[in-house]
Amino acid sequence: MKTTNKKERLVAAIENGTVIDHIPADKTYQVASLLGLFNLSTPVTLGFNYPSKKVGNKGIIKVSDKFFTDNEISRLSVVAPKVILSIIRDYEVVEKKTVETPNEIRGIVKCNNPKCITNNEPMQTLFHVEGDMLTCHYCEKEQDINKVELL
Ligand SMILES: [Zn+2]
Repeated sequence: MKTTNKKERLVAAIENGTVIDHIPADKTYQVASLLGLFNLSTPVTLGFNYPSKKVGNKGIIKVSDKFFTDNEISRLSVVAPKVILSIIRDYEVVEKKTVETPNEIRGIVKCNNPKCITNNEPMQTLFHVEGDMLTCHYCEKEQDINKVELL
């Protein structure tokens, strides 16, 4: 069967949904996991190792019929701060969003202080963000956002 380039593009494109671009290639799976994509029933395409000037090799994720809330998007900033989301309607990009690091991160990152109350009681973690530094709200221990352990 003969396939034209145009047809190939149509197969790769999505009619409605979100394209998540500029993901560092080694974070693609983590981003998908953070967004709960493995629990969706809509089609999801994960692509790895596309060349990128911004992040070295990059990953791209296409999610059909799914639009993310700002809260969901802000979770991404912890693992992949340069990510760009394109909102697609009728095969056209109608909006582009850059992931912003929020001032506070709730329940995504583990505190690296074993004595911290969040590691000993069933409660949500909370960090204040300043640049690349996260400060635990409860024990005030600081950690580098690039080295955090996710919950
Ligand atoms: Zn703590």
